[in-house]
Amino acid sequence: MSSLPTLDGLDVAEARVLVRADLNVPIDGGVVGDDFRIRASLPTIHELQERGATVAVCSHLGRPKSPDPAFRMDPVAARLAELGGFPVVKVDSVAGEDAREAVESATGRTVVVLENTRFEVGETTNDPGLSDALAALADFFVLDAFGSAHRAHASTVGVAERLPSAAGRLLEAEVVALSRLLADPDRPYVVVLGGAKISDKLAVMAHLLPKVDRMAVGGGMCFTLLAARGYEVGDSLVEESMIDEVGRLLDSEGGSKVLLPTDVVVADGFSADAAHRVVPADAIPAGWMGLDIGPDTVAAFSVAVADAGSVFWNGPMGVFEWEAFRAGTQGVATALAACDGFTVVGGGDSVAAIRMMGAESTVSHVSSGGGAGLEMLEGRDLPGVAVLRMWAGA
Ligand code: ADP
Ligand code: MG
Repeated sequence: MSSLPTLDGLDVAEARVLVRADLNVPIDGGVVGDDFRIRASLPTIHELQERGATVAVCSHLGRPKSPDPAFRMDPVAARLAELGGFPVVKVDSVAGEDAREAVESATGRTVVVLENTRFEVGETTNDPGLSDALAALADFFVLDAFGSAHRAHASTVGVAERLPSAAGRLLEAEVVALSRLLADPDRPYVVVLGGAKISDKLAVMAHLLPKVDRMAVGGGMCFTLLAARGYEVGDSLVEESMIDEVGRLLDSEGGSKVLLPTDVVVADGFSADAAHRVVPADAIPAGWMGLDIGPDTVAAFSVAVADAGSVFWNGPMGVFEWEAFRAGTQGVATALAACDGFTVVGGGDSVAAIRMMGAESTVSHVSSGGGAGLEMLEGRDLPGVAVLRMWAGA
Protein backbone atom coordinates (compact mmCIF):
# COMPACT_ATOMS: atom_id res chain seq x y z
CA MET A 1 0.00 0.00 0.00
CA SER A 2 2.99 2.27 -0.35
CA SER A 3 1.23 3.95 -3.23
CA LEU A 4 -1.45 5.40 -0.97
CA PRO A 5 -0.86 9.17 -0.75
CA THR A 6 -1.02 10.37 2.86
CA LEU A 7 -0.86 13.72 4.64
CA ASP A 8 2.94 13.42 4.47
CA GLY A 9 2.82 14.32 0.79
CA LEU A 10 0.59 17.39 1.03
CA ASP A 11 2.07 20.87 1.38
CA VAL A 12 -0.87 22.43 3.18
CA ALA A 13 0.63 25.58 4.69
CA GLU A 14 -1.67 28.55 3.95
CA ALA A 15 -3.92 26.21 1.95
CA ARG A 16 -7.61 25.37 2.28
CA VAL A 17 -8.21 21.67 2.92
CA LEU A 18 -11.56 19.91 2.70
CA VAL A 19 -11.68 16.85 4.96
CA ARG A 20 -14.32 14.18 4.35
CA ALA A 21 -14.62 12.70 7.83
CA ASP A 22 -16.95 10.07 9.19
CA LEU A 23 -19.01 12.03 11.70
CA ASN A 24 -22.02 9.77 11.34
CA VAL A 25 -22.83 9.59 15.06
CA PRO A 26 -26.09 8.70 16.78
CA ILE A 27 -28.26 11.78 17.43
CA ASP A 28 -30.93 11.54 20.08
CA GLY A 29 -33.29 14.46 20.61
CA GLY A 30 -30.84 16.85 18.96
CA VAL A 31 -27.93 15.67 21.10
CA VAL A 32 -24.91 13.62 20.03
CA GLY A 33 -24.86 10.18 21.66
CA ASP A 34 -21.63 8.20 21.36
CA ASP A 35 -19.02 10.68 20.06
CA PHE A 36 -16.33 8.07 19.31
CA ARG A 37 -16.26 8.94 15.59
CA ILE A 38 -15.92 12.66 16.27
CA ARG A 39 -12.94 11.97 18.52
CA ALA A 40 -11.44 9.71 15.88
CA SER A 41 -11.55 12.53 13.32
CA LEU A 42 -9.41 14.87 15.43
CA PRO A 43 -5.84 13.69 14.73
CA THR A 44 -6.14 14.54 11.03
CA ILE A 45 -7.82 17.89 11.66
CA HIS A 46 -5.29 18.87 14.33
CA GLU A 47 -2.34 17.89 12.17
CA LEU A 48 -3.63 19.97 9.25
CA GLN A 49 -4.13 22.94 11.56
CA GLU A 50 -0.66 22.61 13.03
CA ARG A 51 0.75 22.62 9.53
CA GLY A 52 -1.00 25.91 8.76
CA ALA A 53 -4.06 24.84 6.81
CA THR A 54 -7.58 26.21 6.97
CA VAL A 55 -9.83 23.20 7.46
CA ALA A 56 -13.38 22.56 6.25
CA VAL A 57 -15.05 19.31 7.29
CA CYS A 58 -17.93 17.43 5.72
CA SER A 59 -19.70 14.16 6.49
CA HIS A 60 -22.96 12.36 6.00
CA LEU A 61 -25.23 11.91 9.01
CA GLY A 62 -27.90 9.22 8.98
CA ARG A 63 -29.71 8.39 5.79
CA PRO A 64 -32.01 11.30 4.97
CA LYS A 65 -33.17 11.36 1.34
CA SER A 66 -33.54 15.16 1.38
CA PRO A 67 -32.97 17.99 3.89
CA ASP A 68 -34.35 16.88 7.25
CA PRO A 69 -33.96 19.02 10.39
CA ALA A 70 -33.39 15.90 12.49
CA PHE A 71 -30.16 15.24 10.57
CA ARG A 72 -28.62 18.70 10.58
CA MET A 73 -24.92 18.80 11.42
CA ASP A 74 -25.33 21.49 14.11
CA PRO A 75 -25.03 19.20 17.16
CA VAL A 76 -22.08 17.42 15.55
CA ALA A 77 -20.37 20.74 14.85
CA ALA A 78 -20.89 21.82 18.45
CA ARG A 79 -19.38 18.62 19.81
CA LEU A 80 -16.47 18.85 17.37
CA ALA A 81 -15.67 22.33 18.67
CA GLU A 82 -15.85 21.10 22.26
CA LEU A 83 -13.66 18.05 21.74
CA GLY A 84 -11.26 19.66 19.27
CA GLY A 85 -10.68 22.83 21.22
CA PHE A 86 -11.05 25.06 18.17
CA PRO A 87 -13.74 27.51 16.98
CA VAL A 88 -16.25 26.02 14.55
CA VAL A 89 -18.43 27.78 11.99
CA LYS A 90 -21.34 25.61 10.86
CA VAL A 91 -22.88 26.55 7.50
CA ASP A 92 -26.34 25.57 6.29
CA SER A 93 -25.47 24.37 2.82
CA VAL A 94 -23.31 21.47 1.66
CA ALA A 95 -21.31 23.48 -0.83
CA GLY A 96 -23.19 26.73 -1.47
CA GLU A 97 -22.22 30.38 -1.41
CA ASP A 98 -22.32 30.51 2.41
CA ALA A 99 -19.87 27.62 2.57
CA ARG A 100 -17.49 29.33 0.18
CA GLU A 101 -17.64 32.60 2.12
CA ALA A 102 -17.11 30.85 5.43
CA VAL A 103 -14.01 29.06 4.18
CA GLU A 104 -12.63 32.26 2.62
CA SER A 105 -13.07 34.26 5.80
CA ALA A 106 -12.00 31.57 8.29
CA THR A 107 -8.98 32.66 10.30
CA GLY A 108 -6.63 30.90 12.71
CA ARG A 109 -7.81 27.49 13.80
CA THR A 110 -11.44 28.06 12.87
CA VAL A 111 -12.95 24.94 11.28
CA VAL A 112 -15.87 25.22 8.86
CA VAL A 113 -18.41 22.39 9.13
CA LEU A 114 -20.58 21.86 6.07
CA GLU A 115 -24.18 20.65 6.17
CA ASN A 116 -24.99 16.92 5.96
CA THR A 117 -23.80 15.74 2.52
CA ARG A 118 -26.91 13.57 2.19
CA PHE A 119 -29.06 16.71 2.06
CA GLU A 120 -27.95 16.90 -1.58
CA VAL A 121 -29.42 14.18 -3.81
CA GLY A 122 -26.24 14.46 -5.88
CA GLU A 123 -24.19 13.02 -3.02
CA THR A 124 -25.11 9.36 -3.52
CA THR A 125 -25.31 9.67 -7.33
CA ASN A 126 -21.80 11.19 -7.39
CA ASP A 127 -23.18 14.18 -9.27
CA PRO A 128 -20.56 16.21 -11.18
CA GLY A 129 -22.18 19.52 -10.20
CA LEU A 130 -22.00 18.75 -6.49
CA SER A 131 -18.47 17.40 -6.85
CA ASP A 132 -17.42 20.62 -8.62
CA ALA A 133 -19.00 22.73 -5.90
CA LEU A 134 -17.23 20.80 -3.15
CA ALA A 135 -13.92 20.99 -4.99
CA ALA A 136 -14.33 24.76 -5.40
CA LEU A 137 -14.19 25.14 -1.62
CA ALA A 138 -10.59 24.03 -1.18
CA ASP A 139 -7.10 23.55 -2.60
CA PHE A 140 -6.69 19.99 -1.31
CA PHE A 141 -8.95 17.12 -0.36
CA VAL A 142 -8.36 14.63 2.45
CA LEU A 143 -10.47 11.48 2.69
CA ASP A 144 -10.56 10.21 6.26
CA ALA A 145 -13.93 8.40 6.23
CA PHE A 146 -13.00 4.75 5.91
CA GLY A 147 -16.61 3.74 6.57
CA SER A 148 -17.66 5.57 3.39
CA ALA A 149 -14.67 4.68 1.19
CA HIS A 150 -16.54 1.79 -0.42
CA ARG A 151 -19.11 4.16 -1.90
CA ALA A 152 -18.46 6.32 -4.95
CA HIS A 153 -20.22 9.43 -3.71
CA ALA A 154 -19.63 13.10 -4.56
CA SER A 155 -17.98 13.75 -1.18
CA THR A 156 -15.67 10.74 -1.48
CA VAL A 157 -14.78 9.94 -5.09
CA GLY A 158 -16.21 12.95 -6.94
CA VAL A 159 -14.22 15.59 -5.11
CA ALA A 160 -11.09 13.41 -5.00
CA GLU A 161 -11.10 13.30 -8.81
CA ARG A 162 -11.04 17.09 -8.88
CA LEU A 163 -8.53 18.14 -6.20
CA PRO A 164 -5.07 16.88 -5.25
CA SER A 165 -6.00 14.37 -2.56
CA ALA A 166 -4.63 12.17 0.16
CA ALA A 167 -5.71 9.78 2.87
CA GLY A 168 -6.15 11.17 6.36
CA ARG A 169 -4.49 9.44 9.33
CA LEU A 170 -7.57 7.39 10.18
CA LEU A 171 -8.01 6.05 6.66
CA GLU A 172 -4.27 5.41 6.43
CA ALA A 173 -4.32 3.32 9.61
CA GLU A 174 -7.29 1.31 8.34
CA VAL A 175 -5.68 0.58 5.01
CA VAL A 176 -2.39 -0.43 6.66
CA ALA A 177 -4.11 -2.75 9.15
CA LEU A 178 -6.47 -4.43 6.70
CA SER A 179 -3.77 -4.76 4.04
CA ARG A 180 -1.80 -6.83 6.52
CA LEU A 181 -4.69 -9.32 6.59
CA LEU A 182 -5.09 -9.22 2.84
CA ALA A 183 -1.61 -9.58 1.50
CA ASP A 184 0.16 -12.21 3.55
CA PRO A 185 -1.57 -12.75 6.88
CA ASP A 186 0.35 -14.46 9.67
CA ARG A 187 -1.10 -17.94 9.98
CA PRO A 188 -3.22 -19.54 11.13
CA TYR A 189 -5.60 -16.84 9.85
CA VAL A 190 -8.87 -17.15 11.75
CA VAL A 191 -12.04 -15.23 10.94
CA VAL A 192 -14.89 -15.01 13.45
CA LEU A 193 -18.20 -13.99 11.90
CA GLY A 194 -21.47 -13.19 13.57
CA GLY A 195 -24.18 -10.56 13.47
CA ALA A 196 -27.77 -10.63 12.50
CA LYS A 197 -28.22 -11.55 8.88
CA ILE A 198 -26.62 -14.19 6.70
CA SER A 199 -27.79 -12.25 3.63
CA ASP A 200 -25.42 -9.41 4.66
CA LYS A 201 -22.47 -11.70 5.07
CA LEU A 202 -22.76 -14.71 2.77
CA ALA A 203 -20.71 -13.02 0.04
CA VAL A 204 -18.01 -12.22 2.57
CA MET A 205 -18.01 -15.81 3.79
CA ALA A 206 -17.66 -17.13 0.27
CA HIS A 207 -14.84 -14.72 -0.57
CA LEU A 208 -12.92 -15.18 2.66
CA LEU A 209 -13.21 -18.94 2.98
CA PRO A 210 -10.43 -19.73 0.47
CA LYS A 211 -8.09 -17.26 2.20
CA VAL A 212 -8.53 -18.33 5.83
CA ASP A 213 -7.51 -21.36 7.83
CA ARG A 214 -10.56 -21.40 10.06
CA MET A 215 -13.89 -19.56 10.10
CA ALA A 216 -15.95 -19.62 13.30
CA VAL A 217 -19.55 -18.57 12.80
CA GLY A 218 -21.97 -17.46 15.53
CA GLY A 219 -24.61 -14.74 15.84
CA GLY A 220 -28.03 -14.80 14.25
CA MET A 221 -26.54 -15.90 10.94
CA CYS A 222 -25.35 -19.26 12.29
CA PHE A 223 -28.91 -20.57 12.45
CA THR A 224 -29.27 -20.46 8.69
CA LEU A 225 -26.05 -22.48 8.53
CA LEU A 226 -27.35 -24.95 11.12
CA ALA A 227 -30.64 -25.19 9.20
CA ALA A 228 -28.69 -25.90 6.01
CA ARG A 229 -26.97 -28.71 7.91
CA GLY A 230 -30.43 -30.14 8.58
CA TYR A 231 -30.82 -29.10 12.23
CA GLU A 232 -34.15 -28.04 13.71
CA VAL A 233 -33.58 -24.48 14.92
CA GLY A 234 -36.99 -23.64 16.43
CA ASP A 235 -37.86 -19.97 16.19
CA SER A 236 -34.26 -18.84 15.65
CA LEU A 237 -33.51 -16.26 12.99
CA VAL A 238 -33.39 -18.17 9.68
CA GLU A 239 -33.37 -16.76 6.18
CA GLU A 240 -35.15 -19.55 4.30
CA SER A 241 -34.27 -18.19 0.88
CA MET A 242 -30.56 -18.50 1.66
CA ILE A 243 -30.52 -22.10 2.89
CA ASP A 244 -29.66 -23.73 -0.46
CA GLU A 245 -26.81 -21.34 -1.18
CA VAL A 246 -25.46 -21.69 2.35
CA GLY A 247 -25.65 -25.48 2.01
CA ARG A 248 -23.61 -25.36 -1.20
CA LEU A 249 -20.98 -23.22 0.49
CA LEU A 250 -20.72 -25.61 3.43
CA ASP A 251 -20.38 -28.54 1.02
CA SER A 252 -17.72 -26.77 -1.04
CA GLU A 253 -14.00 -27.37 -0.60
CA GLY A 254 -13.60 -24.65 2.01
CA GLY A 255 -16.66 -25.78 3.92
CA SER A 256 -14.63 -27.96 6.26
CA LYS A 257 -12.92 -24.84 7.63
CA VAL A 258 -16.22 -23.60 9.03
CA LEU A 259 -16.65 -24.04 12.77
CA LEU A 260 -20.30 -24.02 13.83
CA PRO A 261 -21.78 -23.77 17.34
CA THR A 262 -22.26 -27.04 19.18
CA ASP A 263 -24.40 -25.44 21.88
CA VAL A 264 -26.56 -22.32 22.01
CA VAL A 265 -28.40 -20.17 24.52
CA VAL A 266 -32.10 -20.38 23.65
CA ALA A 267 -34.87 -18.07 24.86
CA ASP A 268 -38.64 -18.39 24.87
CA GLY A 269 -39.04 -14.95 23.32
CA PHE A 270 -37.09 -12.06 21.81
CA SER A 271 -36.73 -9.92 24.91
CA ALA A 272 -34.12 -9.00 27.50
CA ASP A 273 -35.89 -10.90 30.28
CA ALA A 274 -37.02 -13.99 28.33
CA ALA A 275 -36.56 -17.35 30.04
CA HIS A 276 -33.33 -18.88 28.71
CA ARG A 277 -31.11 -21.95 28.91
CA VAL A 278 -28.24 -23.68 27.18
CA VAL A 279 -29.05 -26.56 24.82
CA PRO A 280 -27.05 -28.60 22.27
CA ALA A 281 -27.20 -27.02 18.81
CA ASP A 282 -28.97 -30.12 17.48
CA ALA A 283 -31.65 -30.01 20.18
CA ILE A 284 -33.23 -26.55 19.98
CA PRO A 285 -36.77 -27.02 21.27
CA ALA A 286 -39.71 -25.94 19.10
CA GLY A 287 -40.92 -22.46 20.08
CA TRP A 288 -37.48 -21.40 21.39
CA MET A 289 -34.93 -19.22 19.63
CA GLY A 290 -31.13 -19.11 19.77
CA LEU A 291 -29.91 -15.72 20.97
CA ASP A 292 -26.28 -16.53 21.82
CA ILE A 293 -23.63 -19.22 21.40
CA GLY A 294 -23.21 -21.55 24.38
CA PRO A 295 -20.19 -22.10 26.67
CA ASP A 296 -18.82 -25.16 24.81
CA THR A 297 -18.88 -23.15 21.60
CA VAL A 298 -17.12 -20.24 23.27
CA ALA A 299 -14.45 -22.69 24.41
CA ALA A 300 -14.04 -24.14 20.90
CA PHE A 301 -13.91 -20.70 19.25
CA SER A 302 -11.38 -19.60 21.88
CA VAL A 303 -9.13 -22.56 21.08
CA ALA A 304 -9.26 -21.62 17.38
CA VAL A 305 -8.34 -18.03 18.20
CA ALA A 306 -5.70 -18.83 20.86
CA ASP A 307 -2.81 -19.75 18.56
CA ALA A 308 -3.90 -17.70 15.54
CA GLY A 309 -1.32 -15.54 13.79
CA SER A 310 -4.09 -13.22 12.59
CA VAL A 311 -7.72 -12.82 13.58
CA PHE A 312 -10.48 -10.80 12.01
CA TRP A 313 -13.73 -10.57 13.95
CA ASN A 314 -16.93 -9.11 12.55
CA GLY A 315 -20.38 -9.45 14.06
CA PRO A 316 -21.49 -10.12 17.66
CA MET A 317 -22.01 -13.75 18.70
CA GLY A 318 -25.42 -13.05 20.21
CA VAL A 319 -27.83 -10.32 21.21
CA PHE A 320 -25.07 -8.70 23.29
CA GLU A 321 -27.27 -5.64 23.94
CA TRP A 322 -29.05 -7.81 26.55
CA GLU A 323 -26.98 -9.13 29.42
CA ALA A 324 -28.46 -12.64 29.31
CA PHE A 325 -27.12 -13.10 25.76
CA ARG A 326 -23.78 -11.34 26.08
CA ALA A 327 -21.50 -14.15 27.25
CA GLY A 328 -20.69 -15.42 23.75
CA THR A 329 -19.55 -12.02 22.52
CA GLN A 330 -17.72 -11.42 25.79
CA GLY A 331 -16.01 -14.81 25.47
CA VAL A 332 -14.79 -14.12 21.95
CA ALA A 333 -13.55 -10.68 23.04
CA THR A 334 -11.62 -12.35 25.86
CA ALA A 335 -10.13 -14.86 23.42
CA LEU A 336 -8.96 -12.08 21.10
CA ALA A 337 -7.44 -10.23 24.05
CA ALA A 338 -5.44 -13.34 24.97
CA CYS A 339 -4.24 -13.97 21.40
CA ASP A 340 -0.65 -12.89 20.67
CA GLY A 341 -1.32 -12.58 16.96
CA PHE A 342 -2.52 -9.60 14.93
CA THR A 343 -6.16 -9.02 15.90
CA VAL A 344 -8.67 -6.80 14.12
CA VAL A 345 -12.29 -6.09 15.05
CA GLY A 346 -14.58 -4.46 12.50
CA GLY A 347 -18.28 -3.66 12.15
CA GLY A 348 -20.53 -1.10 13.80
CA ASP A 349 -22.08 -3.40 16.38
CA SER A 350 -18.96 -5.48 16.94
CA VAL A 351 -17.01 -2.33 17.73
CA ALA A 352 -19.85 -1.10 19.97
CA ALA A 353 -19.69 -4.45 21.80
CA ILE A 354 -15.95 -4.38 22.32
CA ARG A 355 -16.12 -0.79 23.51
CA MET A 356 -18.99 -1.62 25.85
CA MET A 357 -16.69 -4.24 27.37
CA GLY A 358 -13.85 -1.73 27.62
CA ALA A 359 -11.68 -4.05 25.53
CA GLU A 360 -10.64 -1.80 22.60
CA SER A 361 -7.05 -1.63 23.76
CA THR A 362 -6.73 -5.44 23.91
CA VAL A 363 -6.87 -5.83 20.11
CA SER A 364 -4.34 -4.69 17.52
CA HIS A 365 -6.80 -2.63 15.48
CA VAL A 366 -10.39 -1.49 15.84
CA SER A 367 -11.79 -0.83 12.38
CA SER A 368 -14.31 1.97 12.02
CA GLY A 369 -15.78 0.67 8.79
CA GLY A 370 -18.26 -2.18 8.65
CA GLY A 371 -19.06 -2.75 4.99
CA ALA A 372 -15.87 -1.04 3.83
CA GLY A 373 -13.69 -3.34 5.93
CA LEU A 374 -15.48 -6.43 4.68
CA GLU A 375 -15.19 -5.34 1.06
CA MET A 376 -11.49 -4.67 1.47
CA LEU A 377 -10.88 -8.07 3.04
CA GLU A 378 -12.64 -9.68 0.11
CA GLY A 379 -9.84 -8.21 -1.98
CA ARG A 380 -11.98 -5.56 -3.63
CA ASP A 381 -10.45 -2.16 -4.28
CA LEU A 382 -12.51 0.50 -2.50
CA PRO A 383 -13.43 3.32 -4.92
CA GLY A 384 -12.45 5.95 -2.34
CA VAL A 385 -9.01 4.40 -1.89
CA ALA A 386 -8.48 3.72 -5.60
CA VAL A 387 -9.10 7.36 -6.51
CA LEU A 388 -6.52 8.54 -3.96
CA ARG A 389 -3.85 6.38 -5.57
CA MET A 390 -4.38 8.43 -8.72
CA TRP A 391 -2.61 11.22 -6.86
CA ALA A 392 0.42 9.17 -5.85
CA GLY A 393 3.51 11.09 -6.88
CA ALA A 394 1.42 14.00 -8.16
P1 ADP B 1 -21.86 -5.52 12.76
O1 ADP B 1 -22.52 -4.17 12.85
O2 ADP B 1 -20.78 -5.70 13.78
O3 ADP B 1 -21.43 -5.85 11.37
P2 ADP B 1 -24.41 -6.81 12.46
O4 ADP B 1 -25.04 -5.50 12.18
O5 ADP B 1 -24.29 -7.78 11.36
O6 ADP B 1 -22.96 -6.61 13.15
O7 ADP B 1 -25.24 -7.57 13.60
C1 ADP B 1 -25.41 -7.03 14.89
C2 ADP B 1 -26.73 -7.41 15.48
O8 ADP B 1 -26.93 -8.81 15.43
C3 ADP B 1 -26.83 -7.03 16.94
O9 ADP B 1 -27.80 -6.02 17.08
C4 ADP B 1 -27.23 -8.32 17.63
O10 ADP B 1 -28.23 -8.13 18.61
C5 ADP B 1 -27.78 -9.15 16.50
N1 ADP B 1 -27.71 -10.59 16.78
C6 ADP B 1 -26.65 -11.31 17.15
N2 ADP B 1 -26.97 -12.59 17.39
C7 ADP B 1 -28.30 -12.70 17.15
C8 ADP B 1 -29.24 -13.78 17.24
N3 ADP B 1 -28.85 -15.01 17.61
N4 ADP B 1 -30.53 -13.52 16.94
C9 ADP B 1 -30.91 -12.28 16.56
N5 ADP B 1 -30.07 -11.22 16.46
C10 ADP B 1 -28.79 -11.42 16.76
MG1 MG C 1 -24.53 -3.49 12.37
